[in-house]
Amino acid sequence: MADCDLCGVARPTLCPVKVNAPSVLSAYPTGTWRGINEECLASCHEANINRVPSNGKKCDLCGIKNVPLFQVKIQVPIFQEPYHKETSKNICDSCFEACEDTIRRREAEKEEAHHH
Ligand SMILES: [Zn+2]
Ligand SMILES: [Zn+2]
Repeated sequence: MADCDLCGVARPTLCPVKVNAPSVLSAYPTGTWRGINEECLASCHEANINRVPSNGKKCDLCGIKNVPLFQVKIQVPIFQEPYHKETSKNICDSCFEACEDTIRRREAEKEEAHHH
């Protein structure tokens, strides 16, 4: 099991998203991997289309500061009624791109699986 880097939910498998995290850029100049679950990936995709500006301080996925950020609404599970709550995260432009890459890669893989 691994925890989603956005909502914290544990899943057997997560969708790998390659981000340029400024804190580890010297160690990983070509980017480093974050894992998010399918729900969050879908939320990021939607947010990328709608582009609602957020006044957050840093990106919740890669940690970059002082760049335009956008709101991503995600559902976080809680242990009482109604068992989830909506929370909003801040995501930067380059992480949106990274999510789109992940979505494209997954679709290509599905396509591949279909043909065999
Ligand atoms: Zn998540
Ligand atoms: Zn980011």
